[in-house]
Amino acid sequence: MIENVVEFFKNLPPKQCATCGEKIEEQHECYGTQCNSCSEL
Ligand SMILES: [Zn+2]
Repeated sequence: MIENVVEFFKNLPPKQCATCGEKIEEQHECYGTQCNSCSEL
């Protein structure tokens, strides 16, 4: 049962930048839906 939960989270799509579609490392919650590059614009 626990393995099923792990698989569920593995299969979640990665968070993506709303502007360029780049994958976002979820280390900075304050960046919201944009990657580092787009949030600096
Ligand atoms: Zn971006």
